[in-house]
Amino acid sequence: MAKLDQRRINFVKGLPIDVRARVLFYFLKEGISNRKIEGLIDELNEEDGWQAWSVIHFYGFDGNSKAKYPTLTLKKIKDSLLNVNVEELEEFHLANSVEREITANIKFTENDGKDVLRTIKARQGQYKLRKTLLQNYNCKCAMCDINNPKLLITSHIKTWSASSADERINPSNSILLCKLHDGLFEYGYISLNDDYEVLYSPTFDFGSQGISTNITFTKPICDKPSSVFLKEHRLKHGYEL
Ligand SMILES: [Zn+2]
Repeated sequence: MAKLDQRRINFVKGLPIDVRARVLFYFLKEGISNRKIEGLIDELNEEDGWQAWSVIHFYGFDGNSKAKYPTLTLKKIKDSLLNVNVEELEEFHLANSVEREITANIKFTENDGKDVLRTIKARQGQYKLRKTLLQNYNCKCAMCDINNPKLLITSHIKTWSASSADERINPSNSILLCKLHDGLFEYGYISLNDDYEVLYSPTFDFGSQGISTNITFTKPICDKPSSVFLKEHRLKHGYEL
């Protein structure tokens, strides 16, 4: 999803809730283009569409959500927006890293206001999870020394798609990993036992890839990876029968 800069965030925050709700209503329900929406709302200047676009993106929607909510009402949207923590969304937009799960896995299948709120909340939840993991792991990959936030990912132990809504934002179902170790873990080339020793798949040639098989797992200060999820990971990838 697109991230907004501070100028656009401030613009959205300066708009009355009612105006924000109407923008979303026109877009999500009626499928009106952002440029035309600006013509329909007095508070917005009819420019190149960026004002309406900013509102749509601020709340985590994009072109894929256009006209996807046929039963939405203005009231439902307004109620949803009143329940949203704007500061958290703002932090999310200003955060360095994009969580790929957010963009890839939010589905727009249901069509009432609850789903709009759920979508926004899911983004907030993902952002919070990342923040928690960065703290728990001291902003460093649990398996190496990489500490550049742009290279760090909240890696799910039980995959996002297999997880329930609660499991997706459970810090014990995630490990802060760099992109390399996230990839190795995701494909099951490495796993962890209950003592947090790293297990290496015999089917992957670490040496030829120049990847160390002498990894020490650095435990987080809290929310250690849950043994339940780790067991599932080992079962899934053939470390246990
Ligand atoms: Zn790493």
